[in-house]
Amino acid sequence: QIDRIKEKDSEYNCYISVLEERALSEAKEVQKRIDGGELADAPLAGVPIAVKDNICTKGIKTTCGSKILYNFIPPYNATVVEKLKAQGAVIIGKTNMDEFAMGSTTETSYFGITKNPRNTEHVPGGSSGGSAAAVAADEAFYALGSDTGGSIRQPSAFCGVTGIKPTYGTVSRYGLVAYASSLDQIGPIGKNVADCAAALDIISGHDKKDSTSVPTESYGYLKVLGEDIKGMKIGIPKGYLGSGLSEEIKRSILAAAKELEKQGASIEEFDLEAVEYAIPAYYVIASAEASSNLSRYDGIKYGFRTEDFEGLQEVYKKTRSEGFGNEVKRRMMIGAFVLSSGYYDAYYNKALRVKALIKEGFDRAFDKYDIILGPTAPATAPRIGESLSDPLQMYLGDIYTVSVNLTGLPAISLPCGTDKMGLPIGLQLIGKHFGERDILKAAYLFE
Ligand code: GLN
Repeated sequence: QIDRIKEKDSEYNCYISVLEERALSEAKEVQKRIDGGELADAPLAGVPIAVKDNICTKGIKTTCGSKILYNFIPPYNATVVEKLKAQGAVIIGKTNMDEFAMGSTTETSYFGITKNPRNTEHVPGGSSGGSAAAVAADEAFYALGSDTGGSIRQPSAFCGVTGIKPTYGTVSRYGLVAYASSLDQIGPIGKNVADCAAALDIISGHDKKDSTSVPTESYGYLKVLGEDIKGMKIGIPKGYLGSGLSEEIKRSILAAAKELEKQGASIEEFDLEAVEYAIPAYYVIASAEASSNLSRYDGIKYGFRTEDFEGLQEVYKKTRSEGFGNEVKRRMMIGAFVLSSGYYDAYYNKALRVKALIKEGFDRAFDKYDIILGPTAPATAPRIGESLSDPLQMYLGDIYTVSVNLTGLPAISLPCGTDKMGLPIGLQLIGKHFGERDILKAAYLFE
């Protein structure tokens, strides 16, 4: 694995840090535990994993793809990292990402862009682009990403791999550097459904260090794979197939639906209410939470500090102006604006009301269906350099992913063919709250 990274990563730039020596010594320790019989029931023991660089790793740089944390070394591990280590996982590196997970292309990282291994003229998607690209390029067996508005699913779609965003509260967020706390969730990216299910079995479960994690133990995802889906009801929102979606993607998605129908599921199109407002509601809420979460980077406690300054106000101001990139600044300004006293009701409160409407729409849909099926993204991976000049257009690309975060639902993206340029297409299956087993079961039928 390390050799593969050495051979390929100068081209793709999936990693911010590669932990060669550390990983080798950890692997030796794990081997001893395996030989001692301790890890007999651990399917991923000894398997190298790549971890997104916004997930804290003790003693290992965790940068969030930002200059402002370029030298930050956390003194503790995220809960997901502790859980993986207990099961014998070996972390081989920390992956590249859009700065603070804000973006859809992995082009806003302070550590350079990541290229899509399927076609290096195109972006890998984002923000977990480094993780998805590492898996696609065989630079990692599996990886962790984080998903606030699609950042696991969309890069998985663009790179032709599988990624799952769990139900909010399934996986502890302790040690995940916060972007928008009410939407963030960690999840696995793998080469197939079984790898994702095995990883999710390890990282899920209640954690007393995260009060939003749900008090249920061991969910048992891997063991449901292979069960049939006879009688399962699948709904396709009509709006998900409308204008804005590429014809090729539409065809692939409908072919996938046919396949599930053959396996015994029933398929029906329906109207999903209010989702057309998901993008503005998401960007208002996510930016509001980001502006609050990112106020802690001030050059005093950790991370980058500006060099010349006079007085405290100037340290803050210069550190933040020099340390954050443009997209992050844009989000913080939008966030501060929508939270400001004169505009709070008009924007932030209204976005919360829209979020409630979207949730009602999904609740009604899930009274009838077990799974909602659609595309992960309206187009395949854009060319490098195409997206950043037009952020509004880039935000619109999140149309199919963000409502899942606003409602806290689980969703998986899996490969579903390619377009005429050979770029991967992603199929998204959305489940009920804690309905991961249903979407994993259905996804597994495509393998
Ligand atoms: N593209 C979205 C954003 O920029 C999603 C990011 C994410 O899920 N972290 O906010």
